[in-house]
Amino acid sequence: MDVTIVIPLFNEDESLPELTAWIERVVNENNLSYEIIMIDDGSTDNSWNVIEQLRAVNSNIKGIKFQRNYGKSAALNEGFKAAQGQVIITMDADMQDSPDEIPELRKMILEGNFDIVSGWKKKRFDNTLTKNIPSKLFNAAARKMSGIKLNDFNCGLKAYKYKVVKSIEVYGEMHRYVPVLAKWAGFRKIGEKVVEHRARKFGVTKFGWDRFINGFLDLMTIFFVGKFGKRPMHFFGLWGTIFFLFGFAIFIYLSVSKFFFEVTGMTQRPLFFFALLAMIMGTQLFLSGFIGELIARNSSERNHYLIEQKIGL
Ligand code: UDP
Ligand code: MG
Repeated sequence: MDVTIVIPLFNEDESLPELTAWIERVVNENNLSYEIIMIDDGSTDNSWNVIEQLRAVNSNIKGIKFQRNYGKSAALNEGFKAAQGQVIITMDADMQDSPDEIPELRKMILEGNFDIVSGWKKKRFDNTLTKNIPSKLFNAAARKMSGIKLNDFNCGLKAYKYKVVKSIEVYGEMHRYVPVLAKWAGFRKIGEKVVEHRARKFGVTKFGWDRFINGFLDLMTIFFVGKFGKRPMHFFGLWGTIFFLFGFAIFIYLSVSKFFFEVTGMTQRPLFFFALLAMIMGTQLFLSGFIGELIARNSSERNHYLIEQKIGL
């Protein structure tokens, strides 16, 4: 199969028929064999019925219905697991991304030998204050922390090699950082293509102000998980030990000065409390690391989502 189009959606019933018709037109014009996997992320509108109707007339359309709303990352993760195409393209359901980009993105993956090609909404049609300005800050931070030179990390329109989507786990709100996840997994050829962005035709945005805070926390998580996720002890253990030893050394100094040089009033000295604090913090950090290790070794069920129904898969 030439291409899989993965579409996460949450209450987007109005745009689905138009979107699929457009995708069908583009892939047929280019003679591509394809599948469209729609992941209904717990919609409360008519989305799943619409998917079933679309499936009835076109068997290339497949669907996964979540029991509840797990978020875009979970939806992408399940779509990636099911995808069979040589190239996988993700796209938002709201028609802000143009299916006309599919052939060119596919070509970049195959002929340019990229692992990922990320869309860049150079000209954006969203609210300036709540979307465009936060995004700029955000992308700058992500660039700095990940070392990946992308202008637009969070674009829903991206293309991947088959191997890439099978090697990464997208969870939490990590859909913003899929290129970073891929880089951590060892896929380094990450390209960018300027794509057409359109105003939302139907429905409303599902990400408001809170995405800014969640996005920032996720950036820290991704950094931490990438570096120490499988070995928390190397972070907490190290700092715990350093703090503890530091406090302990001060205690030795205080004790020596009391017993050998007869300096009185040990517990009145600020240094005493500092030593105490350092030792307690050190122990706490060390224990956090230890608990982290235990959890890391016992969490095989972390990405288990309840799926109510599947069609075509
Ligand atoms: N989406 C989803 N689950 C959610 C939130 C969003 O599957 O919990 C989908 C949504 O239906 C759309 C895509 O993710 O297809 C991008 O969402 P949206 O257009 O609201 O984001 P924006 O373009 O405003 O950043
Ligand atoms: Mg959108």
